[in-house]
Amino acid sequence: MPELPEVETVRRGLADRLAHFQIAQVEVCRSRAIASPGGPEQFITGLKGSTVGDWTRRGKYLMAELQPDRSVWGVHLRMTGQFQWHATPADPCPHTRVRFWNAAEEELRFVDVRSFGEMWWVPPGCPTEQVISGLSRLGPEPFSSVFTSTYLQQRLKGRSRPIKTALLDQGLVAGVGNIYADESLFRAGIMPFTPAGRLKGQQLETLREALVTVLQISIGAGGTTFSDFRDLEGVNGNYGGQAWVYRRAGHPCRCCGTTILREKLSGRSTHWCPTCQA
Ligand SMILES: [Zn+2]
Repeated sequence: MPELPEVETVRRGLADRLAHFQIAQVEVCRSRAIASPGGPEQFITGLKGSTVGDWTRRGKYLMAELQPDRSVWGVHLRMTGQFQWHATPADPCPHTRVRFWNAAEEELRFVDVRSFGEMWWVPPGCPTEQVISGLSRLGPEPFSSVFTSTYLQQRLKGRSRPIKTALLDQGLVAGVGNIYADESLFRAGIMPFTPAGRLKGQQLETLREALVTVLQISIGAGGTTFSDFRDLEGVNGNYGGQAWVYRRAGHPCRCCGTTILREKLSGRSTHWCPTCQA
């Protein structure tokens, strides 16, 4: 599943490719890909004729401002959603969900094998959170000034759930998924099963720093390598090659040589080093 760095990579790709892209034609191949009121019909009417402006990211949501009416085009990739750029006409694959063309017949294509990806059109003047309701439940961005160790301490106080589970909660911090939770806990030297409320201020500060660093490294590398993530040009990111624990169960820790362990935690595979993480 794409996490913050992958979604940020997609945001940059869309911003590059779609600068001044004027949407001449839209085709919705699968209606459930459109989650906003009015369904595909209003989505198509809203986007057609608009010029794509700036792209922003909030958690794993992507939003483009459309000109001239300043309506908003929202996207969530969910499990397997991906964008493809086709400079010349090409036959759509069976997993094609939504297609966008400009007058030059260049195509942006949304392909989604598992079909959980969603798009929204937010009418001009309408609060974005009203249409894309998931936005209102998001915690702070990991890079924002409100995401501090004090914030974490307040939110995690008295909580017995494991810190790994807490990090996956989008209401605590936006955009973190399985890979970056495991990698940042390794970097911080914290056992994933540690009850969240038991972590001290300094440990939470180390964890915050580790999370920000791991995310920044991955954004620089273009997102993690995993089977279904491609950027717009079809290129895999390469963070996977640098992973310390994620998908390394049974291999020696790159730091101390101890065998990396894996166990299910809240339904998600969790990887850690029993020596480096206490
Ligand atoms: Zn180790």
